[in-house]
Amino acid sequence: MTAAIIDGKAFAANLRAKVGELAAAFEAEAGRKAGLAVVLVGEDPASQVYVRSKGKQTVEAGMASFEHRLPAETPEADLLALVEQLNTDPAVDGILVQLPLPGHMDEQKVISTINPDKDVDGFHVISAGRLAVGQPGFVPCTPLGCLMLLKDRLGSLSGLDAVVIGRSNIVGKPMAQLLLAESCTVTIAHSRTQNLPEVVRRADIVVAAVGRAEMVKADWIKPGATVIDVGINRVPAAEAGKTRLVGDVDYAGAMDVAGAVTPVPGGVGPMTIAVLLRNTLVAAYRNAGLELAADAI
Ligand code: NAD
Repeated sequence: MTAAIIDGKAFAANLRAKVGELAAAFEAEAGRKAGLAVVLVGEDPASQVYVRSKGKQTVEAGMASFEHRLPAETPEADLLALVEQLNTDPAVDGILVQLPLPGHMDEQKVISTINPDKDVDGFHVISAGRLAVGQPGFVPCTPLGCLMLLKDRLGSLSGLDAVVIGRSNIVGKPMAQLLLAESCTVTIAHSRTQNLPEVVRRADIVVAAVGRAEMVKADWIKPGATVIDVGINRVPAAEAGKTRLVGDVDYAGAMDVAGAVTPVPGGVGPMTIAVLLRNTLVAAYRNAGLELAADAI
């Protein structure tokens, strides 16, 4: 048996196109563009790449991008003041402070300063609380992207056994909440879980968000299961001096057992920014007091 490949790249392109159409409709109705502000503190190379692609894709979707780059030694109070200013700026619908922040800053304090109605990353405790109790709010982009891929592949997830490996606030925990809200029976596994292969073996849905190259082996996977690989790990390539990206799942092995698998790259990765744009559009409609049909996007 060869598993189906879940094409996150194509799904994300469709999602961005849909956001683009709705962003144009929003502009016509509201008389302004939906706007996303991204704040980058310092010069972390990976963060610079992310921020650049977020800005580019925001503009491509017909929304306004406001980039704020601050030096690494910026006092925390200055960053908090910028966030406060963005909170009250009517042109800004979504605020994203790129993590990680320099060591002298308290990330939780900075995130807590973002107005929850502009928290398009979904990292504010109010957003986490809203997700936990089932109120409308913003859900972190990567797990929401994973859920979209799962629903596209499986339709209803009700009653399915789901195992999420990883319990971070950014991926594992919100992923588990989303699956629970879809009426899955959810297990959250983590670094202290005993008999992980056995735990994974009973799952119809496996979401791996660990950060360990090819940790999940083929013989851990229940035949026919749907496997979502969030991991991004850089490992040495066959060619000397080169590296390549692999996920948390042994992809080649999983292809022989699973029903469907997301590749790395080209699976979950492209979904994150597409969902960020989607969240920003939803924020714009809400902030402008305009109606967006629940199933619009
Ligand atoms: P994290 O380091 O915050 O959390 C990792 C989790 O894995 C922890 O909860 C830990 O308990 C668990 N873990 C560690 N070792 C384990 C083991 N041996 N067995 C079982 N569980 C174990 O990481 P994160 O931010 O949640 O990210 C996880 C992975 O997903 C990383 O590779 C990251 O690069 C990737 N990621 C990708 C995207 C994207 O595709 N856009 C976004 C976010 C994270």
